[in-house]
Amino acid sequence: MNTDIIIIGAGPAGLSFARSLAGTGLKAVVVEKFSAEVLANPPIDGRDIALTHLSKGIMERLGVWSRIPEEEISLIREAKVLNGDSPYALHFDHQKVSDDALGYLIPNYLIRKAVYEEVVTLPDVDLITEVTADTVRTDAGMATVTLSDGQTITSKLLVAADSRFSQSRRAMGISASMLDFGRVVIVCRMEHERDHNGIAHECFNYGETLAVLPLSGNCSSIVITLPTSHSDEILNMDPECFNARVQSNFGNRLGQMKLVGERYPYPLVAVHANKFVATRFALIGDAAVGMHPVTAHGFNLGLRGQDTLTTEIRTALARGRDIGSSSLLERYQVKHRRVTRPLYAGTNALVRLYTDDRPLHKVIRKAVLRFGGALPPVKRAIVNQLTEIQN
Ligand SMILES: Cc1cc2nc3c(=O)[nH]c(=O)nc-3n(C[C@H](O)[C@H](O)[C@H](O)COP(=O)(O)OP(=O)(O)OC[C@H]3O[C@@H](n4cnc5c(N)ncnc54)[C@H](O)[C@@H]3O)c2cc1C
Repeated sequence: MNTDIIIIGAGPAGLSFARSLAGTGLKAVVVEKFSAEVLANPPIDGRDIALTHLSKGIMERLGVWSRIPEEEISLIREAKVLNGDSPYALHFDHQKVSDDALGYLIPNYLIRKAVYEEVVTLPDVDLITEVTADTVRTDAGMATVTLSDGQTITSKLLVAADSRFSQSRRAMGISASMLDFGRVVIVCRMEHERDHNGIAHECFNYGETLAVLPLSGNCSSIVITLPTSHSDEILNMDPECFNARVQSNFGNRLGQMKLVGERYPYPLVAVHANKFVATRFALIGDAAVGMHPVTAHGFNLGLRGQDTLTTEIRTALARGRDIGSSSLLERYQVKHRRVTRPLYAGTNALVRLYTDDRPLHKVIRKAVLRFGGALPPVKRAIVNQLTEIQN
């Protein structure tokens, strides 16, 4: 089989990229190990994805936003960052930057479902499911992928969106910096007595981090980050004890809290590929950069990266140029790395500092938060990063 672009991975990044190619006249094949049934009805995975204004704009353009039921889109109106036992909170309010919200929360499984529903309507995209891309090879003329069912596909460009542990990245000889935090993030939903008023809280408590993100009604998305050695205990804890523990760690701000549904664990490993491109090959999504979720940039970067790559491809087509040329790929790499590198380094530095409970670091943690709140340009820069409104 021959096509224009092969995409490995029908996760939210790979499918968004396939959808972005609509109208270019290019043919694409998406290769995915999950079945079509799973893609059409992805299981709940506990993740509520915080999206920036830039991401909302991209998802609207792709027809994905309007496929999300309105009641499943929650608004983050304010955000507060707390540290240790200090009563001080670094506070951000949407009113200074936007009419409605600092950002939006949507369950990950609904994003996956919505983007899949868009892609299956496209005549130029073929989805091959229940197969893995087993070998990948590229040369100056073409890319070749061999699937687990024995098929071989060739194309002008190969795009890998096959997760932060990307096999094709490795097969193409691209190294990656990996940071294993030795921690696990546990996500779940909880109902509570009091209204959250649309306020997201990030509490850098000593020993563990707790994020409480506002969903529709008196319900919040809970994100607990703790050392791996403690995670089983929290995952298996009797729900009553778990409720009491979260309620107390959150300082009883929302009154009585009650677990709804399952708790989902994710080991925390951040990844940044040392190159995003090779001959006729590009990495997008988590395969390019897999972030620590604390700054909620992962999928936002995935959307932005695929958008940057599509823009380069559209420009090449308009000029009658090769869509897999090294100059096109180099431009994509330069533009996207300029965005990802500072965010990746900044997020990891923040995590290191705010998970360090040594006495000197406790003092620095306090000072950094106050510094962020006291200096308007610093605060503005943080808000711009969080909302991506200026872009
Ligand atoms: C707890 C948690 C909270 C998060 N919160 C946020 C947030 O608030 N905001 C935000 O922006 N991001 C957030 N993220 C990050 C976000 O979920 C990821 O960035 C996003 O899901 C990555 O999408 P992807 O398509 O790149 O990769 P994936 O979702 O990993 O998809 C990869 C796909 O490739 C397929 N695949 C892999 N290998 C092969 C192969 N060899 N052949 C065929 N198919 C293959 C897999 O089956 C899968 O479908 C969070 C992540 C976690 C864990």
